[in-house]
Amino acid sequence: MECIQYGLLEILINNMNWKQKYGEMGSRNKKTGKLNNYIVTRTHNNGVDSFECSCPATMYRPWLQACKHIKRLKEKLLLP
Ligand SMILES: [Zn+2]
Repeated sequence: MECIQYGLLEILINNMNWKQKYGEMGSRNKKTGKLNNYIVTRTHNNGVDSFECSCPATMYRPWLQACKHIKRLKEKLLLP
């Protein structure tokens, strides 16, 4: 049995800066039939948000600013 959580997993707050971790659903692996799941980390530093994802998309395609998980999370958070 797999136990996977989606949505907000963790918040770390350090003064005015904070970090949030979200679980994002990935695509299904065609070979194993399992879902790939990724953690998107949102870092808020001095009023600036930056996003990082645990998926390999930006590793294969370093020109990508954000993978689809980051885009999806931004949509959920109603961010530009
Ligand atoms: Zn991703």
